[in-house]
Amino acid sequence: MSRDRVYNFSAGPSVLPESALESARRDLPDYKGCGISVMEMSHRSPMFQEIFDTTKARLKTVLRVPDSHEILLLQGGATLQFAAIPMNLMEGAAADYAVTGHFSNRAAKEAEKYGAVHIACSSADSGFDRIPTQERLQLSPDAKYFYYCANNTIYGTEWQYVPETAAPLVCDMSSDILSKPVDVSRFGLIYAGAQKNMAPAGLTVVIIDKALAGRELPYTPQIMSYKTLIESDSMLNTPPCWCIYMLGLVLEWLEGQGGVEGMEQIKRERARRVYEVLDNSRLYIPHAEIGSRSDMNITFRTGDKELDAEFVKGAAARGLLNLKGHKVAGGMRASLYNAMPMEGVDALTDYMKEFEAKHHV
Ligand SMILES: *Cc1c(COP(=O)(O)O)cnc(C)c1O
Repeated sequence: MSRDRVYNFSAGPSVLPESALESARRDLPDYKGCGISVMEMSHRSPMFQEIFDTTKARLKTVLRVPDSHEILLLQGGATLQFAAIPMNLMEGAAADYAVTGHFSNRAAKEAEKYGAVHIACSSADSGFDRIPTQERLQLSPDAKYFYYCANNTIYGTEWQYVPETAAPLVCDMSSDILSKPVDVSRFGLIYAGAQKNMAPAGLTVVIIDKALAGRELPYTPQIMSYKTLIESDSMLNTPPCWCIYMLGLVLEWLEGQGGVEGMEQIKRERARRVYEVLDNSRLYIPHAEIGSRSDMNITFRTGDKELDAEFVKGAAARGLLNLKGHKVAGGMRASLYNAMPMEGVDALTDYMKEFEAKHHV
């Protein structure tokens, strides 16, 4: 397979481990001799139940999810959670939101429909190039929770600390979940769209402190009530069966890489190699401030839009795909998720250096 594969730097849906794709290909028409594909199975069948239970157990082990918390495997993407969170946890009162990028901004806007949103901090004025320090967070006494986005996929910034707050922490970890150890017990709720660092698009993982369930507003749709979803073990309706199966394969691969500790070491090294090129360059301008830089999504530009476009085009011609920045940020973005091999990073840095040598006068 690898012979035809390119290096995919897409921010999501994104690169998956080759071993997971190979296993999926092997199992595709006939899952473990049962004569049908996982895609064709009833979600109520014992065969699927086993896949579901194993995947959930693997995730619990890999992320060390304590028994106080429940793992939900849902549909609707991260965006559905922008509404589900305030509907379930805000109690029509108030919540604190840290606005450090595009998605936390959208989450805050959505939450305004259900209660008072206090902006605990915003880095909009500086183009979302930084994460505020703990001292700068403005925490309100009536907040039912504190919301933040751990890694800002579009702008390439990442929280280097877990905030200290009296209110329960709610965190969007879509683009850095499984990339480092996390003390889950410190969070009221963690959620992530799977298509960045876990599985194909269509699955959303929610990890919730069970003590927070059961506070939903009366008009909360049944399918968005954490209490109902916990009681039905994510099977109020058909779960995203294929994605759950794929998550199981990705977790199997991840265990073989040393789990989240292994991922953290590799992630730091991947990012180090790219930032080193950026910091020694006279052509590239990194977007994120030092101290706020993301290891997962690295954003930079040349300062010249045409040259940026040429960079992206030349990269694609060499099999380095999807390096164009998000339309709201411009420039370039290299997403270095768990499944990105180090050879891909080296191919990128080689290209960056060559491109600079050719274009910097
Ligand atoms: C991609 C992304 C989202 C949006 O995810 P959907 O699953 O498309 O709704 C939200 N938050 C972050 C941090 C993301 O990277």
